[in-house]
Amino acid sequence: MAAKIAAGEVIDRPVSVVKELVENAVDSSATDISVAIASGGIKSIRVTDNGSGIPSGELELAFKRHATSKITSLDDLERIATLGFRGEALASISAVATAKLSSRTAYQTAGSFVVMNSDGVQSQGRAGMSQGTTVLVTDLFKDIPARFKFLKSEASEASRITTLIGCMAFAYPNIRFSLTVDGKQIFTSKAGAPLRETAALIYSKEVASSMLDVDSELDTPSSERHRVKVLGLISAPTIQRMTRAYLTFFINRRLVQSRSLSAAVESAYQGMLMTGRHPVAVINIEMPYENVDVNVHPTKAEVRFRDDGLVFAAVQRSVRAALIAGTPVPPMVSSSAVKVGAGGMEGAPPQTHYQPQNTSAQTINRPLSTDPQQSMPIGAVPVIAAQTTMLTALPSLRVLGQLGGTYVVAEGQDGMYLIDQHAAHERINFDHAMKEHRDKRVRVQGLLEPVVVQITPHQQSAYISSKAALAEYGFLLEPFGTQTYLVRSVPAMLAQSDPTKSLTDALDFLGGEESRQYDWEQRIALSLVCHNAIRAGKSMTMREMEELVRQLEETDLPHACPHGRPTMLHVSQAHLEREFGRRQ
Ligand code: ADP
Ligand code: MG
Repeated sequence: MAAKIAAGEVIDRPVSVVKELVENAVDSSATDISVAIASGGIKSIRVTDNGSGIPSGELELAFKRHATSKITSLDDLERIATLGFRGEALASISAVATAKLSSRTAYQTAGSFVVMNSDGVQSQGRAGMSQGTTVLVTDLFKDIPARFKFLKSEASEASRITTLIGCMAFAYPNIRFSLTVDGKQIFTSKAGAPLRETAALIYSKEVASSMLDVDSELDTPSSERHRVKVLGLISAPTIQRMTRAYLTFFINRRLVQSRSLSAAVESAYQGMLMTGRHPVAVINIEMPYENVDVNVHPTKAEVRFRDDGLVFAAVQRSVRAALIAGTPVPPMVSSSAVKVGAGGMEGAPPQTHYQPQNTSAQTINRPLSTDPQQSMPIGAVPVIAAQTTMLTALPSLRVLGQLGGTYVVAEGQDGMYLIDQHAAHERINFDHAMKEHRDKRVRVQGLLEPVVVQITPHQQSAYISSKAALAEYGFLLEPFGTQTYLVRSVPAMLAQSDPTKSLTDALDFLGGEESRQYDWEQRIALSLVCHNAIRAGKSMTMREMEELVRQLEETDLPHACPHGRPTMLHVSQAHLEREFGRRQ
């Protein structure tokens, strides 16, 4: 059996510890599970449940590899109904941290505890406690400097954990979950609450009330083996998020990650979302256990299906059906129009740009219907074959005009320059934010009327961990009730933007995946710039364009936006002459 159960439970970051401990608590039939983390879980993680407990004599055994009490026959592996089934989590955790396991069953008059780390049992004894189990994990990765260094940001660790607990609350509506981050209770779910109520806690009342029900059973008449049932909530297309972090999937209530499930949901929204924006969805898929291979990945996260196409189609169709039922107005953009600007914040290919924020369907569709060439990104038009120039300084440029409301056309010493106005403005804002901060002269805009902002637990955990840094850049907030803050001031460069939107976008970015590749200074600066930059599609006056180009010339890296995409294309004089046959 040991061979069949893939070895090596991977504990790669704090959230995987929390996931294993919470899953154990769920398996123990607990109805109340509380989680407390300090410093993103790096300092400590504590999970307490009121479940069955572990008899004193078996505490030490629980740390042994393959010491699962959950599999009685090999056939069970085919139909795993409990979350834990490898008997490796506690062993793996105590190999990279110090774990104190305290427990008491219903039949014992007192509890007991064992403290375990990679050197073995450190201490043990009796513990006064009520029925259930508490695991306290400290010194995570202390002896593994490489991994410790990898955990760059407490904010994103805390936010991953917050997301996880929110997800567990969705999956197990009959369990009460609570989460405390750095001593502050940020989340409590109500046992027995309907899905939508939990959604209100996790996202916000506004998001939850606008969510659409997904509920369709797609039965292929052939057999029970192909049954796929899709149930959950998805956001209306008006709700759009900066990251995919708000897409949550369960297979038979087991939290899973799956690119193909995310793609299925997003494809159902095709044509309804702005470029680089993502929906919110929480979806449980019920299907026969033997059609899912949950044991593929060591952390059991990435699932594999026996019939991937069947599941993809079921999810896509039921989400699409919910969207059509819930949004009587036709989609805002045609699906082919979306391709023009596909991409965005996350891993966008260099030739893409943002869709305009406030442009009507009319304007977006117009160039497509008249000129099919326009649907190709500029870099792909063979005749121009323009290249991004690698120079570090910009030649001085003379603005000639604007192209498609999106590109500034300019002439320089050596040919023509096409400047992406959004990317250029991002670069300018980013440089300003970084410089002001380095020179300790951050310009702050106080708000005459403080703005009340309600944020999600996910955003709140990002905020708690980046509070000081955000304040240095001008965001001053004051607690104002549960998950609610008063915004007192904003960075001056965001003075013209909606404070609620700039704050929540910044927090989504800070708690998200993409921000991890940057150091904290860049990360905060980046979280501020994108929201505020001129959109593609906004027409600009000559003066405005000249000012944009002048400011771009002054930046340190004028040729790329802070996300690494080019700000400009250059077509050299020589290239023009060759193309027009003036020169060989
Ligand atoms: P697995 O969950 O795969 O069985 P773990 O290493 O996670 O393996 O846990 C080992 C064993 O310890 C479990 O099988 C269970 O018997 C016991 N255990 C762990 N956590 C708890 C808990 N919170 N409540 C009751 N029993 C637990
Ligand atoms: Mg387990």
